[in-house]
Amino acid sequence: MEVKILPLGPIQTNAFFLINGDHSVLIDAPKGAHEAIAALLEEKGLTLDALLLTHGHWDHTTDAYLFQKDGVPLYGHRADLDLFANPRSMSSYGLEGIPMEPVQIDYWVDQGTQLELLGESIEVRHVPGHCPGNVLFYLEDQAACFSGDVIFAGSIGRVDLPGGNFSIIEQSIRNRVYTLPDETEIFPGHGPVTSVREEKRRNAYVRPVA
Ligand SMILES: [Zn+2]
Repeated sequence: MEVKILPLGPIQTNAFFLINGDHSVLIDAPKGAHEAIAALLEEKGLTLDALLLTHGHWDHTTDAYLFQKDGVPLYGHRADLDLFANPRSMSSYGLEGIPMEPVQIDYWVDQGTQLELLGESIEVRHVPGHCPGNVLFYLEDQAACFSGDVIFAGSIGRVDLPGGNFSIIEQSIRNRVYTLPDETEIFPGHGPVTSVREEKRRNAYVRPVA
């Protein structure tokens, strides 16, 4: 499986494009993702099987409505229903000129959901605290996890937005990120790739339980 990292949109949100054979899956849809992915699908003759949304914040979902129009099924967590259905509720945190179109999630995922996509088993873990509906997608066979905004290289997601809470994000990271195998690569929603081992060693915001 190949992973392309596409930092897109006004605050460089990472979209991840997973390719296996002639099928593909997109994780998150910042502004510009639809155009970029359409070009890749065309160039490589790929089918896009799913759009997985790590959470409902506008910078991760701006282009989701365009994929929905194309008939691509959307996956997300119900705790972010309001953000998916009414993204303008966050418009005071958005930027001028960014469209905020609602989307309907086709498949709700939750802690423990197992998805079968691209011939891979994908485990869903619910990791709230940055927002109520953040999930991570863990591909054990690839030793990879796509984590949205729960954790970043050396940092953690903002907890000052609506629905954010430090003690909840701390529990999410300790119980559902740091419990992944150490060698697991973490692909966060912003910034560079890191690993579970690296964050357990270095992350100053959330320390593993001694
Ligand atoms: Zn976010």
